Amino acid sequence: MPNLIPRDFIDRLVSDSDIVSVLGAYLDLNKKGNNYVCKCPWHDEKTGSFTVSPQKSIYHCFGCGKGGNVLTFVQEMEGLSFVEAVEKLAEINGVTVPRESRSNIEDYSNIYQLNQVLAEYYLSALKDKKNKQVVDYLKDRGVTGETAKKFLIGYADFNQTEIKEKLIEQFGVETLLKSKNFLKNEKGIYPFFRNRLIFPIKNSPGKIIGFGGRSIDDSMPKYVNSSDSKFFNKQRELYGFNNAKQDHKKDYFIVTEGYMDVVMLSQHGIENSVASLGTAFSLNHLQKLFKLKKKVVFCFDSDEAGLKAAWKSLQLSLGQVFDDKTVRFLFLPEGEDPDSYVKENGQEAFIKKIERSMVLETFVYQFIKRGRNLDSPEDIRLIIHDFKQIIKLAKSETLKEMLLQKFEKELNIKKDLLLKQDGPKKKITKPSPKKDKFVTEFNNQYCLIIYLYENYYETIKESAETFENFLLKPIEEKDRLVFLPIDLELDKLAETIRALREGQKRKSKDYEILDTAIYAKAMMIDINLTNEEALNEFNRATDSIRLEFDKSFLEYLKELAEKRELSVERKENLQKLLNLSDNISVQEEELIKFLNTMVDF
Ligand SMILES: [Zn+2]
Repeated sequence: MPNLIPRDFIDRLVSDSDIVSVLGAYLDLNKKGNNYVCKCPWHDEKTGSFTVSPQKSIYHCFGCGKGGNVLTFVQEMEGLSFVEAVEKLAEINGVTVPRESRSNIEDYSNIYQLNQVLAEYYLSALKDKKNKQVVDYLKDRGVTGETAKKFLIGYADFNQTEIKEKLIEQFGVETLLKSKNFLKNEKGIYPFFRNRLIFPIKNSPGKIIGFGGRSIDDSMPKYVNSSDSKFFNKQRELYGFNNAKQDHKKDYFIVTEGYMDVVMLSQHGIENSVASLGTAFSLNHLQKLFKLKKKVVFCFDSDEAGLKAAWKSLQLSLGQVFDDKTVRFLFLPEGEDPDSYVKENGQEAFIKKIERSMVLETFVYQFIKRGRNLDSPEDIRLIIHDFKQIIKLAKSETLKEMLLQKFEKELNIKKDLLLKQDGPKKKITKPSPKKDKFVTEFNNQYCLIIYLYENYYETIKESAETFENFLLKPIEEKDRLVFLPIDLELDKLAETIRALREGQKRKSKDYEILDTAIYAKAMMIDINLTNEEALNEFNRATDSIRLEFDKSFLEYLKELAEKRELSVERKENLQKLLNLSDNISVQEEELIKFLNTMVDF
């Protein structure tokens, strides 16, 4: 969502906030001289190194180095976006957030309100005697009344005329239909959820954005969720996240497969679990969790489907696990899920399971070797083949090394064999130097691109537009050549450029930069370029990305050449890039031919 909150309002909000009272609501602050200290909420420590200075209105942790102002604190502590944090802080201070123009901004507050009213209605339906079978069902599953209230678990009856009329009166038909809780056909307006147990789904700030409905008889499908909309995106939201992020004591999140798992774990005092919304766990989900905690424990069924889901999550994780981030895997005994397990065995037993969960390296090994015979050279070869595929996805050098060591030890074969090139031409063994170089270089390259966008946009405009055509296409349409973790960096670049362009189009510096660290790094470049140099730099940096990822790049270059707009310099640079690549793809081969036949002008 673009940020149209005036900068001076944000500045005033920060300077008007009493940092001690805002942080004091989350932390146990003790006065020490001019400052306040306490134990850091983000790292484990025995004595307090977390220091708050009321004079300077900042906080800093001498243990882990985290620091900032009252706004960054609220943002980190609550896991909010920049705009959400401004809204939250305004709420704490009892002021309303002014908006410069509402034209671009869609306001969903009435939908959230409507959802809240509806959720409470569904909850109250449990009290109706005629719905006793639903209450019995919940009791049967072991859900207490208190838990039902906490998660607003309710029941959507067949007939919802009364609430429908009430919602129309209060919010209007348009909002009702926009909320997607009611649909319209030629016979009239009817409820989306009928005869289903209802689980309201909250976003990170705690607003109800959609619902999950579970059938309580044998009707299929077992689960139905609100359909995706601008305010409800299953790829980004997680069930239970709003509750889980508030558990600051645990340093990890648990990812489960179902709503009932989250609910039941909470009932047993384990508050840090989430579940995806009927879709596969996504990269967005993982990044959302890693923003708040360094560790994620995936808890899946131990059947074939559970294993496959875990393997998919592992593949996502390989590009995200670096520095002090980790993922683990917990497989409960066959036929059990967190819901049933915690009910039977209690909190302590479940936490013990979590503590003994599988580390990533072990899971990779276990998964790859399953169903294979370690005495068969043929199977060993297949294991090595799979290993080579998977190690390519790891981003961290340390992790790669650990994976290598694990396989070396378990299979009792030399590391060289695990890295050795297989087959005459393919080079998929040791992650090739070119790829590695690209990952590290890529950062600098996209920083440069961001820097040029911010400072030389008018100069690079024409090239930039065609680059955006490729970069900002929705992912599913993107004609990408490969899917590697590098894509994540590309997506970061896309996010940042999208935000920058939004701001530039409005001639405002008030936009939400999704990743301030990237932005800051880019601005550090701070070099003076002539317009010509800027354009050359931009083409050079974006060409190397498009060469690697953009299927339509060759077509684009041909067009440029026809219009006589492909400069000698650009051509030479492309040839240089192609010379560097030791693994020529079909696209690259064509490109070399094309460049060689091109007449210089
Ligand atoms: Zn700290």
